[in-house]
Amino acid sequence: MKVLVVAGDRLGGYDPITAHGVAAGLKLGEVTVLASGPQREEKAREAAQLEGVAEVIQTDHPALQKPGVENLALLLAELTTTYAVILAASSTFGNDLIPRAAALAHRSPLTHICAIPDSTTLLRPIHAGNILTKLPLPHPPLFLTIRPTAFTAAASLPPDGPQAPITRISQGEESHLSRQTQLTPSPNRRPDPVLARVVVAGGGGLSAGGNFYWVEALADRLAGAVGASRAAVDLGLASNDLQIGQTGRSVAPELYIGLGISGAIQHLAGIKEAGMIISINSDPGAPLHSVADYALTADLYEAVPALIKALDNNNRLD
Ligand SMILES: Cc1cc2nc3c(=O)[nH]c(=O)nc-3n(C[C@H](O)[C@H](O)[C@H](O)COP(=O)(O)OP(=O)(O)OC[C@H]3O[C@@H](n4cnc5c(N)ncnc54)[C@H](O)[C@@H]3O)c2cc1C
Repeated sequence: MKVLVVAGDRLGGYDPITAHGVAAGLKLGEVTVLASGPQREEKAREAAQLEGVAEVIQTDHPALQKPGVENLALLLAELTTTYAVILAASSTFGNDLIPRAAALAHRSPLTHICAIPDSTTLLRPIHAGNILTKLPLPHPPLFLTIRPTAFTAAASLPPDGPQAPITRISQGEESHLSRQTQLTPSPNRRPDPVLARVVVAGGGGLSAGGNFYWVEALADRLAGAVGASRAAVDLGLASNDLQIGQTGRSVAPELYIGLGISGAIQHLAGIKEAGMIISINSDPGAPLHSVADYALTADLYEAVPALIKALDNNNRLD
């Protein structure tokens, strides 16, 4: 079966999420990676070095040199004549792209695939992650998003070793559905929460301070990513792309720290795969406390500065 894996769209270069998509794609068949957008050449070069990739296609049509999903969705719908599976990681970009492409091809997308036990079976969470459902592989063409952290990234081969061929294609179309007026890379230089080893997330409990300062300060001490609950996003304390949970992103860090987060079921759906969970909340009955490995009942405005001071003094937690 031929599988087309869409490379991640991180601005400023190659997106490491691509290697997770390749790992998932290899479980279903022969993998071709599609590189589009402003950094397509760099993305194509890096993807060609990923173990198991058979071919890389680089889209050179002007409509596909810009970021965005509308034009790319049109191309993906057409490519179903060649590829049985179109797959992207469930990042903001993948979650936007795959359902659009599927709709154009009159198919239903299958999203957040978290395991592919064999080439005929897919596993995906339902009911806010409380149940895993097993699906026999439907008839192609298939449009899938995969949970990146559920698939160990394909290894990158040495640059002087064998590489997959890169084919440039001029196929493409302008949808005229959106117009790009300005491109401003996010000033956030912290790791992406989806792939980070440490995630510090802030919730509605941060509203008293009116900002995310303590979340960011702790994340920076731990070289971690920043995440947020929906309450924090709705309050304007954090940007939408940082939201973790059922309608946000799923994270699987080794360490997750929730600051002033109650632990509603919709938030917990996004942290099910976290290794260690630490909750800091002034309410001893907060649901996040009951799923946490370590729960600290305290005012975060006292606990977090003390924690940061301890980290600064010792450079580690005893
Ligand atoms: C369909 C649907 C989808 C949803 N999707 C998501 C999702 O993807 N992600 C998500 O997060 N939510 C989602 N929600 C919303 C979810 O139900 C909760 O409303 C939300 O998670 C609450 O966020 P919170 O715990 O940060 O805020 P709150 O409920 O406001 O809780 C704030 C917490 O901070 C604590 N606190 C307050 N002050 C302090 C202090 N000084 N120190 C320490 N602790 C303090 C409080 O005790 C409380 O536990 C969804 C809801 C629906 C209906």
